[in-house]
Amino acid sequence: MGIKSEIENKTRKLVIVANAKFKTNLVLSDILYRRMPVTYAYAIYDAGNFYIKYSTIRLEKYPKEMLKDTIPHEVAHLIGIYLSVLTSRKGDTAHGPLWKSMCLALGGIGEIYSKHRLTPRYYQYIDSGGHIQYVTLKYHNEMQNNYRVLNLSNGETIKAADFSKDIY
Ligand SMILES: [Zn+2]
Repeated sequence: MGIKSEIENKTRKLVIVANAKFKTNLVLSDILYRRMPVTYAYAIYDAGNFYIKYSTIRLEKYPKEMLKDTIPHEVAHLIGIYLSVLTSRKGDTAHGPLWKSMCLALGGIGEIYSKHRLTPRYYQYIDSGGHIQYVTLKYHNEMQNNYRVLNLSNGETIKAADFSKDIY
């Protein structure tokens, strides 16, 4: 079983568990993926639909952490959004005490885990000529989030898909 199907199965199971625990009727519309370098995942509420978007970059590198911590973290966010948007009950939409207690109740660690991880010093890319290049977070985000293509002084280019690894 691939990591994506493990993530999907556990996410859907945990939504059912959360609905029973918190007496909600949250329906997860879809599970999305994107190559986000810094963020593990997002809980999204859009036009009446609930989604979780997972980072494929983080998933490749930290599959166990994603399965164990990220899923309860995001499902707790969804329940918080559900409660505050669709019910008269109180729900945290960020990392407040209600979110934390729900995250813990769902088997998570109740922390903003990205804070506990080292920030890479540089990001390694392989340019269009096959050379190794290092860029800072600013340019890394420009490529990953804004799909910018960088022109290098050696005449080559780098873009989002050329990302190779974090350098600590
Ligand atoms: Zn969060």
